[in-house]
This record gives sequence, C-alpha cells and structure tokens, in this order.
Amino acid sequence: AAGVPKRSLGTRRGGVNGKFVPPIKPTEEDDFGGMFGVKQPGMEGGNEEEIDERLKNIDPKMIETIRNEIMDIGAPVEWDDIAGLEFAKTTIQEIVVWPLLRPDIFTGLRKPPKGLLLFGPPGTGKTLIGKCIASQSQSTFFSISASSLTSKWIGDGEKMVRALFAVAKVHQPAVVFIDEIDSLLTQRSDTEHESSRRIKTEFLVQLDGAGTGEEERILVVGATNRPQELDEAARRRLVKRLYIPLPEFSARKQIVERLMSNERSALTNEQIDEVASLTDGYSGADMKNLCQEASLGPIRSISFSAMHQITADQVRPIAMEDFKSALQRVRASVSNKDLDAYVQWDKTYGMGG
Ligand code: ADP
Repeated sequence: AAGVPKRSLGTRRGGVNGKFVPPIKPTEEDDFGGMFGVKQPGMEGGNEEEIDERLKNIDPKMIETIRNEIMDIGAPVEWDDIAGLEFAKTTIQEIVVWPLLRPDIFTGLRKPPKGLLLFGPPGTGKTLIGKCIASQSQSTFFSISASSLTSKWIGDGEKMVRALFAVAKVHQPAVVFIDEIDSLLTQRSDTEHESSRRIKTEFLVQLDGAGTGEEERILVVGATNRPQELDEAARRRLVKRLYIPLPEFSARKQIVERLMSNERSALTNEQIDEVASLTDGYSGADMKNLCQEASLGPIRSISFSAMHQITADQVRPIAMEDFKSALQRVRASVSNKDLDAYVQWDKTYGMGG
C-alpha cells in the first residue's frame, strides 16, 4: 500500500504468547502451527494488492490516523491480569475467543455473535477485557471512544466509522472496541443532530456487515456505563450482553497483591486481607487509585530538604498506615443506586451469571 509503512501490518501476530489451550489435542498433521503465529492463507490481509483494493475509496489520511491512534499494539493482556469476573471470562472465552481462533469449527449453530456488549460501572475492567480478547485470539485491537466520533471527528465521523471497519478488515482477525457505545447508539433519536444520526446509521450498517463475509473475522465489543440508554436496535445487534460488576473481596485482594508485588511493600498477608475487606464497593480503578495514593505515603514523610539527598532505597516501604490514610482520601466512586440499576438491567437484558 502506497505510503503505508509495512511495519504496521499484523504487528500483533508474533507477539502473543501461546498460553491458550487448544480445545482438542493437536495431532502431528495438525500441529496448530497456523494458530500460533504462522500465517494461514486467507487469515489476514493477504498481499499488498489486496490491501489497496479494500482501502481504495478510503481517505489515506484517515487510514494513517486509524493505524496510529486507534489501532493498539500495546503489551498483550492475559486472563490472569483481570481479577475476578470468572463468569464473564469463561463466557467470553467460549463465545468469542475460540471462534476467532477456530472459525472452521465454530460454524452453523456455533457461529459467534458479531457484537458483544460489556456493561457495568466505570473502572471495572471492560477495556482490559477488550484488550484481552484481542490478545488471546491473536487479533488486532482497535479502540475508539464513541464520543470522539462526534466531537473529535466533527463532520467526518461517518467516514471515520467506514474507514475504521475497512482497516479492521485488512487487519483481521480484529476486535473493534467501542467505549461509551451508548453515546453512539442512544435511544433519544428525535433530539439527535443530523451528523450523529448519520454516524449511527453508518455504524449499524457496518455492524450488520461485520463478520458476515465468509472470511471476515471482526468482533465488535461495545462498552457502556449506561446500558439503559441503548435502544432496541442496539440491543438487537449486541446479542451477547455481559454484566461486568465491581470486584469482590478476592478480586480486590488480587488487585492489591498484584500492584504491591512491583513495589517495596511492608504489607503482610493479613494486612492485604484487611485492605480488601475495607474496600467493599470499590471498583478496580478505585483500587488502583488507592494503591497509588498509599504508595505516596512514604514520600510524604520525607522533608523538602531531605528530598534532594535521599537515595531511592532510603525511601521506606509502603505500610498499612499508608493505606489507612489513603482510604480517607480515595473513596468508592460508584453509588449503590447505580449498582441496583445495573443488576436490574442485567436481569432484563443480560446473560445472567
Ligand atoms: P472500564 O473500561 O471498565 O472503565 P478499565 O478496564 O479501563 O475499566 O480499568 C481501568 C483500570 O482499573 C485498569 O487499567 C486496571 O488497572 C484497573 N482494573 C479495573 N478492573 C480490574 C480488574 N478486574 N482486574 C484488574 N485490574 C482492574
């Protein structure tokens, strides 16, 4: 493709580790070589001629922007990086990750949904899950916030949506993660601006088209904190809807353990338990904020003048007292009222768990 650096094509492929356990035992003839980095015909973009063809009518500047800003080639995410959420993780593995890896097996009744909705309070790992799906299925990850389509790309939102799906096609298998999807698929259509209505229409068209072609492997993952805002058209397309709740005790504990394992910490096991029990109602993001706040405790006890001379190993380890004062500053960000609304919506429209 003219002017497009080759490095961005399929960069994720080799980098993902092969921790995934195949559903059936590989034989000598079928050694799963194609799944772990070795290209199979038709699996991805193919040759450069083909790429030009698919992106023929797309503004090259937009393609470049998508590759630079929306295509995410960050560090791979493992299932173990996500604390708790066992039901969501198992379900996702089965209904979307395996089908992306083995489209030849997941045909007919097993055909995967084209769209997945993750709903729940902010900061509970929805984005993390989106990334993990992409890593684990060796797919290219595209991530965009729906509100940026209406704000950042004023006037061009509709074209941007079309370009995004065209580029995703070239880099398939692909996961297209759309944050705040409610703002794109809201039900208050009569008050909508003409431009947002066009973006919405284009998005629905693309969503209907994604993954329908024989060799198309594009999964759309929408995330929202406000599932109540989604209209019927949106719910119909995002067939699988998974509640991503606040972390429970064991998940909160795991988050603290993980974050502390990279720091100098004086916390005992019992104290980590105590932090986990004192943080009922905290989201995963709240837990991270809390740990960050606590990690500043040892710094706060250093005087301004000492700060110039002190060596890194003279900074005392993070202790329980730091968590105690951090708990005063960092509070749970989600209200009980909001939580009730999620549970209610899950009962009506979710997959349960
Ligand atoms: P969301 O998309 O649901 O708003 P994110 O996935 O962006 O939330 O999470 C924000 C941050 O909070 C993550 O980068 C991570 O540090 C932390 N976090 C949230 N949920 C979890 C979780 N279940 N396990 C581990 N970390 C989490």
